[in-house]
Amino acid sequence: MFNVETIRKDFPILKRQVNGKSLVYFDNAATSQTPQQVIDVIVDYYSNYNANIHRGVHTLSQEATDKYEQARLKIQKHFNAKASHEIIMTSGTTHGINLVASGFTALLEKGDEIIVSALEHHSNIVPWQMLCERTGAILKVIPMNDEGELVMSAYTDLLSDKTKLVFVNHISNALGTINPIEFIIQKAHAVGAAVLIDGAQACPHVKPDVQALDVDFYVASAHKMCGPTGVGMLYGKEEWLNKLPPYQGGGEMIAEVTFENTTYADLPHKFEAGTPNICGGIAFGAAIDYMNTIGFDKIAAYEHELLDYATAELLKIEGLKIYGTAKEKTSVISFNLEGIHPYDVGTLLDKMGIAVRTGHHCAQPIMNYFKIPGTIRASFAFYNTKEEIDALVSATKKAQLMLS
Ligand SMILES: *Cc1c(COP(=O)(O)O)cnc(C)c1O
Repeated sequence: MFNVETIRKDFPILKRQVNGKSLVYFDNAATSQTPQQVIDVIVDYYSNYNANIHRGVHTLSQEATDKYEQARLKIQKHFNAKASHEIIMTSGTTHGINLVASGFTALLEKGDEIIVSALEHHSNIVPWQMLCERTGAILKVIPMNDEGELVMSAYTDLLSDKTKLVFVNHISNALGTINPIEFIIQKAHAVGAAVLIDGAQACPHVKPDVQALDVDFYVASAHKMCGPTGVGMLYGKEEWLNKLPPYQGGGEMIAEVTFENTTYADLPHKFEAGTPNICGGIAFGAAIDYMNTIGFDKIAAYEHELLDYATAELLKIEGLKIYGTAKEKTSVISFNLEGIHPYDVGTLLDKMGIAVRTGHHCAQPIMNYFKIPGTIRASFAFYNTKEEIDALVSATKKAQLMLS
């Protein structure tokens, strides 16, 4: 049984007051809140077995290593990777994307083509532009329509035997659109191109199966799925990870070092130079456990209820426009009030205890498409309630009155 009131008790921050009002946290697409179960794991690590991993013979180091590698196995199982060495621990989505983009420098030639989508986060645009600068490869963009959906006929027209890589997010952080990644992957593979899926915004809502998707690379951040900041994962098919050169040099990623020659460690350590975020990795595992205990089917169904309710209630406000009306959508609502700057609305909402995001959401090309400076974005998680949505709706009305 899904009981939101019971779930809310797991999140100490939800008891907070902001500006004298009960906190309504609707900025989940930027970062999620952390349940006590994950906080306890962090406190336990620093209280009882903080040590560096993989090197020590002493007890604490062995305990930390065991827990860290157990977390990798949890991540492997969650994403259904074939092998645990296909899971590279990273500092987050951005790190994972840069690791792959850097590795492809050696694999691309001038005139090769790589494809991104109009719906991307800056972190899934800029590293590929830098890759094009290094290699002379050409960047092509899948366009979107007024609903905020990618145009698949335009995508298939862009594909050719010149296409080497395709990069698309699974779910758009700015509009909430769920992209048809199965189709995108299948068509890319038909011309021999590799695919990287940016799953940062999908993983709080769905449980991706990387083998069923047959995806080549998939990246995610722990902090969007009830884990801590500064840790994430890159899944790569073993054959691809073997083709890519190491990203950073340092300790932990080597087999043998002399001044004449250095040989690299096997996967996954080849890509894990230096001391990682050990506590963060272990807490990432705990966050995955937590979300699976609730269950992704229940999470998705409940969040959809919130999305439908909020969409209907917000649209009752005159002069309110929602950007992103895709048929397949997750619990993100980007909107504006006619004639009012989103920043002003966001500031007034904060005064009333409601945390939303305003601005371009690291996706300026989408804002340019709609010819707007930004939006107000309310993004819901499974610990949010309809009462909180009511508070948002009435606060938005108040803000509109004050600002018009
Ligand atoms: C949040 C987000 C990112 C960036 O994640 P970081 O944790 O900041 O590296 C990339 N893509 C999408 C779709 C996101 O939502």
